[in-house]
Amino acid sequence: MKGTIGVTTDNIFPVIKKFLYSDHEIFLREIVSNAVDATQKLKTLSSVGEFKGELGDTTVSVKLDKQAGTLTISDRGIGMTQDDIDKYINQIAFSGATEFLDKYKDDANAIIGHFGLGFYSAFMVAKQVDIVTKSYKQDAKAVKWSCDGTPNYTIEEVDKQDRGTDIVLHIADDEKEFLEENRIDFLLKKYCKFLPVAIAFGKKKEWKDGKEVETDQDNIINDVNPTWTRKPADLKDEDYDKFYSQLYPGSEKPLFHFHLNVDFPFHLTGILYFSKVHSNLDFQRNKIQLYSNQVFVTDNVEGVVPDFLSLLHGVIDSPDIPLNVSRSYLQADQNVKKISSHITKKVSDSLESLFKKDRKDFEEKWNSMSLFITYGMLSDEKFYDRAASFFLLKNTEGKFFTLDEYKKLIEKEQTDKDKNIIALYASDAIAQHAYINAAKAKGYDVLLLNGQLDTHLINALEQKNEKLRFTRVDSDVVERLIVKEDLQKTSLTSAQQEALTTTFKSSIPAIDKTEFYVEFQNLGEQQQPLVITQQEFMRRMQDMAKVSGGPMGFYGEMPASYSLVVNTAHPVVAKILNDEEQAIGDQVKPLNDQRNQLDKQITDWNTAHKDVKYEDIPQADKDDKKKYEDEMAELRKQSDQIISQYAATNTTVRQLIDLALLSNNMLKGEALSQFVQRSFDLLKE
Ligand code: ADP
Repeated sequence: MKGTIGVTTDNIFPVIKKFLYSDHEIFLREIVSNAVDATQKLKTLSSVGEFKGELGDTTVSVKLDKQAGTLTISDRGIGMTQDDIDKYINQIAFSGATEFLDKYKDDANAIIGHFGLGFYSAFMVAKQVDIVTKSYKQDAKAVKWSCDGTPNYTIEEVDKQDRGTDIVLHIADDEKEFLEENRIDFLLKKYCKFLPVAIAFGKKKEWKDGKEVETDQDNIINDVNPTWTRKPADLKDEDYDKFYSQLYPGSEKPLFHFHLNVDFPFHLTGILYFSKVHSNLDFQRNKIQLYSNQVFVTDNVEGVVPDFLSLLHGVIDSPDIPLNVSRSYLQADQNVKKISSHITKKVSDSLESLFKKDRKDFEEKWNSMSLFITYGMLSDEKFYDRAASFFLLKNTEGKFFTLDEYKKLIEKEQTDKDKNIIALYASDAIAQHAYINAAKAKGYDVLLLNGQLDTHLINALEQKNEKLRFTRVDSDVVERLIVKEDLQKTSLTSAQQEALTTTFKSSIPAIDKTEFYVEFQNLGEQQQPLVITQQEFMRRMQDMAKVSGGPMGFYGEMPASYSLVVNTAHPVVAKILNDEEQAIGDQVKPLNDQRNQLDKQITDWNTAHKDVKYEDIPQADKDDKKKYEDEMAELRKQSDQIISQYAATNTTVRQLIDLALLSNNMLKGEALSQFVQRSFDLLKE
């Protein structure tokens, strides 16, 4: 008998054939899972007494016949009668087909899912498909259906002893790869590794007398009871670890796992693992495998779990995730949204209980997880809130604190005059060693925040915690890191400050893209004479510009600006000032006197013209003012020159600056060589 397949669109076959090359392989998943479904249906019928025969061996077998050019998938499931074939195979009529096919012509999964075209996906790789099948029903007649990829098929009665179905694929000439044993083996392991019915691919082989020979045992390629389908109560940690290495052979042992088991309002099982998160976030992605009733679907979980959770490993199995749809559809799906937030909650609950159960163990694993948790907190508001109970801060001594614990710890010593709690942190314990020490000596605690995302984390923590500020230890001299009361004023006159500013500024070696501002502060005799600091705000902006990558933007382009803080209470600073006055005071003083004189003239001029509109001031008066100002600038230039020339001969100034640069790791190249030479020379004196 002949017939025409009931497709309302002209011909489905050209469309099926046209699928992206890489999608072709899913035909095997579709055909094998049909065989598994048919087997399970029969088992169900048997268990409710509707099928009274012997189930016997229900192994699904996959056989290659290279000579005949066929790949055959056989099962001993429910089979089909001629009526069944007509109903389930021949009638693939659907409305709106042309439009849909057009839209999704590049997405095999979407088309297959939309139309239930599972079986027809065989035509992606086969030029002809035969179904030889016999229903489990009493007195059923075996039939053979055959179709060569046109809408026409033939159907006839045949002899078949056993119940069940053979799907015979006559592989197309341009799809010969699917006749290769290795290729089929690979695909079975990819898609069918955990199917719930045993699947045999040929026979087991063994080595005998230096040759590989077939045994008479089936080569079963799947594990019908994968760990995630078993009861957590029956499983030990070793079982989970073993399953992990089954999923990712040769991987490092995971840190811990949790078993997902949801019945309502959707079905979801699975096991997710935390493994060490190394610095490269992208490398870690796409390790979660998605299954639907133990059939592998994809390892791209984008849209199914929040982005940060895609750093986890393991399996998720849910028949409620609409798998055969496009990604955008998936992301809008209500079930998927529920699943996604359920997983997030489950992850944070598990982390919390691990933290409570064994804090020490949790702390030991913290370094390996902190990047993941930080990423979660930054990208998912709800996760941020939930993480509050187990998120840890680590100080430079290696001690761990929750945020609340830490606030309590530092509250007393580290609250400034505006009632802000100032958390001090270092981003590099070695480079910032001197600053960390200074802060500790003052009784402060210093955190270590050296993670890839910590600059962003700090911003988030400040935003969420009113009155909590983070300041890097090297962002100011220790006296000013936490300003508790107004600092003592410096006793230098403005002329002295000006002279010292020029002295120091002219002696700083040129550093690319770097600017220095000289500041004066009475830090006390015991403190260092000269300290270089970088303002927290600017530095953080520049760090963020760096982390975000791409064009550097406004802050990224700005030169880094540092403060050179001169401790006016230090004896060596007093000495420099004194020496300088001795050496060039005679030259600078008359210039300063003249400037004071001019300054007075300018003040008088301003008073005299206070109430006069600028355009009403006579030109002669304006010229006078310009003359004063020009003279002033000229005098300033002269004294700057005298001071700079002198400073260049003052080795103490150069030495102080270089030491300050050195303790900031900023003394490099020629400046460093000069410093070393100068230090040796000084020892000779
Ligand atoms: P789906 O499996 O999504 O229903 P398919 O196109 O894969 O769509 O299959 C259509 C129908 O054909 C199945 O629902 C089933 O009734 C029948 N069928 C396919 N393969 C077999 C098989 N190996 N044994 C019994 N019935 C089968």
